[in-house]
Amino acid sequence: MVDLRTFEVWFVTGSQHLYGNEVLVQVAEHVQQIARAFNDSPHIPVQVVFKPVVTTPEAIYDICLEANCAKNCIGLITWMHTFSPAKMWLNGLVALQKPFLHLHTQFNRDIPWATIDMNFMNLNQSAHGDREFGFAASRMRLNRKVVVGHWQTDEVQQEIGVWTRAASARLDWQCAKFARFGDNMRQVAVTEGDKVAAQIQFGYAVNGYGVHDLVESVNQVAESEVDHLVDEYETQYHVAELLRARGKYRESLRDAARIELGLRHFLDAGQFKGFTDTFEDLPGLKQLPGIAVQRLMADGYGFGAEGDWKTAALLRAVYVIGAGLPGGASFMEDYTYHMDPMGEKVLGAHMLEVAATIADGKPSAELYPLSIGGKADPVRLIFNTRTGPALNASMIDMGNRFRLIVNEVEVVQPDAALPQLPVARAVWLPKPNFKTALAAWIYAGGAHHTAFSQAITSAHLRDFAEMCNIEFLLIGENTDLVQFKNELRWNDLVYSRLVA
Ligand code: MN
Repeated sequence: MVDLRTFEVWFVTGSQHLYGNEVLVQVAEHVQQIARAFNDSPHIPVQVVFKPVVTTPEAIYDICLEANCAKNCIGLITWMHTFSPAKMWLNGLVALQKPFLHLHTQFNRDIPWATIDMNFMNLNQSAHGDREFGFAASRMRLNRKVVVGHWQTDEVQQEIGVWTRAASARLDWQCAKFARFGDNMRQVAVTEGDKVAAQIQFGYAVNGYGVHDLVESVNQVAESEVDHLVDEYETQYHVAELLRARGKYRESLRDAARIELGLRHFLDAGQFKGFTDTFEDLPGLKQLPGIAVQRLMADGYGFGAEGDWKTAALLRAVYVIGAGLPGGASFMEDYTYHMDPMGEKVLGAHMLEVAATIADGKPSAELYPLSIGGKADPVRLIFNTRTGPALNASMIDMGNRFRLIVNEVEVVQPDAALPQLPVARAVWLPKPNFKTALAAWIYAGGAHHTAFSQAITSAHLRDFAEMCNIEFLLIGENTDLVQFKNELRWNDLVYSRLVA
């Protein structure tokens, strides 16, 4: 659904006219060579577009305006191969509305000790040229990513790749639409928030729709479409006996398929990138959407239950960041704990809505009653989650700002089979340990709902938060609770400058 090759990052190199044309020609050749290498790099998923070397304030201003207007341009990579006096950059950087990555590299990896002369020195001056540029960006208090190292190394290309993924998700949010069926789960606080602030800060819009709009779409689904989708379920999943052809609850499976198709048609027609629903407001739908949501998330739609639009939007971003990488992403909820001191764990799940892409093996499609919601028994996919590193991310509204909290976790096998548990689930160990991670999460105000991913890392989300100009908190291997509480206090001071 998302192809990151449709996004472009522009490679913009600064210089000046002081060195004569010959040097500028050589600079341009070097930059093209680097841009080609980045384009061929397996670590960088977007197109890297070489832009002519800029040497005047006017040219810099123009390229920044062009970048703002270019629909597929996620941002800039800037590099000062030679010296580029940074007052030339001020107007451009004031105008620039896209994120930028400052690459601090050098064309030659090594100093040619035996042959180095002043011509070489004049051509290869990024050691001080990039410092001049860095001063301007710092003086302007601009958030940006600085990547240091030789451009041919995997490490540098990986860091650029991480940043371009985050910048792609940021661009994907611009004018994105999220549909909200019904409102919030009654009385719940953390899923609320300021949608106007979110649209100003992030660029996406959240608008409400009556459930009858969805019901209408479901009712228009053709029976032949339902036949086709039910066949697909049977190919992709272990479908329970009672749901199979001539099974007692075959009609429930068809109802579930009809809801999926109705949702898909609605989302496609409105070009929505995600949605929320709430079990308290589903009149006219036979079941709470279960398998439908699990499959839509797998196709890249953001989702939040109980009206949780912030998590729906975040999950969409997490999906775009991870596009093409191994591992999936899902809506998730910290559900219940294993508090055995010999091995404390978290069991994450939801009533139904866990994405099929994180399944370990072939999921089973089954029918069980739901104790809340007052609807017919919903069809859902049941599975365990693949083991390995993962993260949970939560976006909350602090009143005067948004805060993104990430906890790195390790998904493990459940200690035993869970034959009575009729939902998909993941069992994990939070980092740095159960006690510290949970205390930090709660001090930070992290939600019970999260965007869970096995495809991306906290580095992606740190870059993402920085380019969205929001607060970022990491709970990981090195988290110390005393220090973390200080960070919370200091951040309150930092962000107190912003208008509530
Ligand atoms: Mn929930």
